[in-house]
Amino acid sequence: MVEKFLEQTTFTSQEDFIKNLKIKVPENFNFGYDIVDAWAAEEPEKKALLWTNDKGEHVQYTYADLKKYTDMTASYFQSLGIGHGDKVMLILKRRYEFWYSIIALHKLGAVVIPATHLLTKKDIVYRCNAADIKMIVAAGEDVITKHITDAMSDSPSVRKLVSVGPDIPEGFEDFHKGIENAAPFVKPEHPNTNEDTSLMYFTSGTTGEPKMVAHDFTYPLGHIVTASFWHNLHRDSLHLTIADTGWGKAVWGKLYGQMIAGANIFVYDHEKFTPADILGKIQDYHITSLCAPPTIYRFLIKEDISKYDLSSLEYCTTAGEALNYSVYETFKKITGIRLMEGFGQTETTLTLGTFPWMDPKPGSMGVPNPQYDIDLLTHDGRSAEDGEQGQIVIRTDRGKPLGLFKEYYRAPELTEEAWHDGIYYTGDVAWRDEDGYFWFVGRADDVIKSSGYRIGPFEVESALMTHPAVVECAITGVPDEIRGQVVKATIVLSKTFKGKEGPELIKELQDHVKRVTAPYKYPRVIEFVEELPKTISGKIRRVEIREKDK
Ligand code: ATP
Ligand code: MG
Repeated sequence: MVEKFLEQTTFTSQEDFIKNLKIKVPENFNFGYDIVDAWAAEEPEKKALLWTNDKGEHVQYTYADLKKYTDMTASYFQSLGIGHGDKVMLILKRRYEFWYSIIALHKLGAVVIPATHLLTKKDIVYRCNAADIKMIVAAGEDVITKHITDAMSDSPSVRKLVSVGPDIPEGFEDFHKGIENAAPFVKPEHPNTNEDTSLMYFTSGTTGEPKMVAHDFTYPLGHIVTASFWHNLHRDSLHLTIADTGWGKAVWGKLYGQMIAGANIFVYDHEKFTPADILGKIQDYHITSLCAPPTIYRFLIKEDISKYDLSSLEYCTTAGEALNYSVYETFKKITGIRLMEGFGQTETTLTLGTFPWMDPKPGSMGVPNPQYDIDLLTHDGRSAEDGEQGQIVIRTDRGKPLGLFKEYYRAPELTEEAWHDGIYYTGDVAWRDEDGYFWFVGRADDVIKSSGYRIGPFEVESALMTHPAVVECAITGVPDEIRGQVVKATIVLSKTFKGKEGPELIKELQDHVKRVTAPYKYPRVIEFVEELPKTISGKIRRVEIREKDK
């Protein structure tokens, strides 16, 4: 399928990639018809989605299956009054009905808003009103049902609630009965244009309230680079991205680019995450490609990996947070596989990446995806020199690149703040080495200004993490009359060091940082805590620590 959209499909070097990557965007592109149904017509028996759960069930869907079920779902949703531009929220975890629903909604030209099941009543009310949600399709668990039901009296735009079961709560329609009884699907005459909104994802909420990111119908094509050239997928791959469907990372790794590449997508629908489960799945199902945030790899290397046969695994990628050097090294030592790091946001597709023709530099995010005109801007607005820190920006003076979002929905002031004068500001600071590789420094808001120095939290955190006492830590700035700000480390101690919090350990940790990195970066303030404040998706919220220290 990739060859339909690319003039050249294999690349041998970054120069070749920059020069020859050309993604063709057809008019009125629709992922449902132009990818899913196109596969079903060309190779109906081709494997599309391998769904499993922690109850021992597994189903291998072919494209013929997916076409059938997404048509049935589309017809059912039509009967519930859903059509072009209608907003539908999906709270489906990793249930297979997520794939039925999102593809069906694309076929209808509707707007899909996937959300996490960890939302409470207040979050659901906020989202329904923020986005004018017309229908919610949800998994049948009691907690989810209760929060949705409680939210309804304050969510006047919602007309229908649908449950995929197993039990159908009061007030909800039965999804499975609905699709079984649906009339044959009739495709809408004009489902969408390329500019229409197809998908809205909430950001993780690491820096503040989650923002609602609106993408258009061409967004899936932007993910060709994510899947074919970062995940390095081909038509025989079996790929697992570890992400809940409520986060943007799910469509990065469990849908768009993977299906365009013709890879089989592995889904493991589980209640509780245990690293051992994932290793078992890789072994039993012969998964060839894995993508997960650094935290997951951090867990995996703590397991006894030698107990598992992971020989099917060809390729591993990571993004979402900074990758510590030690995790890269240990994973490579155990598996022989080099972690290929990438960088991007809910607002984008893969933006920087380590591509198959490159040697990874552990801890570097890689080089720009040529789809985007990427630059680093210093705080006084210049393009940074090699070695100099700057904010990662995407230049859009020649138009919106494929893959970049349209806007923050109903938040023009937020959109304007991040994206003005032909430049989209990612909010992330990095530096570039002489080979063109980018190195993460921290979020712009997290960078500490102390006595004229600019100190990125990531480097100090990485230095601390190499000390056996430190399980996790967050570096922030605390206000200081003389220096402006001083570096503070908030630390979760490992079991063996619990109870040893005191001036001696503090001094040892400070000396350790001074030895591992430039001495001026050492944390003058250290606080020990039981746990760090995090987002629902597990990212460290440094902003919360800063607020507390004000
Ligand atoms: P919010 O925008 O609501 O504060 P968020 O930015 O965490 O939340 P996401 O879109 O899920 O929401 O995450 C994108 C962010 O993740 C990037 O802006 C960057 O800060 C971080 N990130 C992604 N990849 C990497 C990486 N390889 N190294 C370091 N940070 C990364
Ligand atoms: Mg963000």
